[in-house]
Amino acid sequence: MSKFVLPEPVVRIEDVRELARDLLVIPNRRVPLVPNIGVVGGAHSVLVVETGMGPRNAEAVLAFAAEYAAGRRLYLTTTHFHPEHAFGAQVFAGKATFLVNRAQAEDLAAKGVAYLEMFRGLGEPVARQLEGVEIASPDVVYDDAYDLDLGGRVVRLRAAGRAHSRGDQVITVPDAGVMFTGDLVEAGQFAIFPWFPPYDTDVSGIRWISVMRRLADASPQVVVPGHGDVGGPQLLADVRDYLELLRDETWARRDSAVSEHTIVEEVRALMIERHPEWAGREWIDKGVGCLCAEHPV
Ligand SMILES: [Zn+2]
Repeated sequence: MSKFVLPEPVVRIEDVRELARDLLVIPNRRVPLVPNIGVVGGAHSVLVVETGMGPRNAEAVLAFAAEYAAGRRLYLTTTHFHPEHAFGAQVFAGKATFLVNRAQAEDLAAKGVAYLEMFRGLGEPVARQLEGVEIASPDVVYDDAYDLDLGGRVVRLRAAGRAHSRGDQVITVPDAGVMFTGDLVEAGQFAIFPWFPPYDTDVSGIRWISVMRRLADASPQVVVPGHGDVGGPQLLADVRDYLELLRDETWARRDSAVSEHTIVEEVRALMIERHPEWAGREWIDKGVGCLCAEHPV
């Protein structure tokens, strides 16, 4: 993990963008551990996508969403269980219906507490935002697919299958061509591989590549990444290209029985050369580690 002290991961209700009619994004302003947050409205209900990290961020998101909803019923969903995406859900209890896919609910129940501890170790500013976190239980859990009717607008909630985490979920708003990917896609940074053996090895580079192909098949016009600037379908292609290159370069060296340390050094240098402007270089090493473990023997 990062050795420098991360800035305080505070969600600010600023520069809110209307991507389509009744569809807002609270941008993460490129602040680490702040996600892009969605607010999607219909005639009678409003869906919030992501909570921000911890109860204070979630309170700000809920207050904004409740005011925006202006009496419409509230729903909450999260793209996956990681702390900045889901560890504010407790605040929505009794105010919104919290709805997620089963694999994500299981991730939250099985690994939520361990991730809380791990993230508290990322420095005082992060630990402060995690004060008072209680791992929430979803109100509604679905298996693979759920169509949420907000009134004149149906939002598609789909379990992606294991990729960035075991329980990734993608949310699309077909009438607006908008897709919320969570951490399956980042803009302006290397793909986040939460590869923490022996504690968490659920991330799969190989499955992630096939998920990216499926997301591209859905042909969204607007892609809201987990972190970084909102973009078009090119964001999906960029992630797939990166993951395929990471796989190919890692496996080519694995085939020649080079040490994992050397593979990491060489592949990291190549990837930085390819994407010198991308942040999050520490995640390249984790990605190589994951793909080494996924190398077919
Ligand atoms: Zn994540």
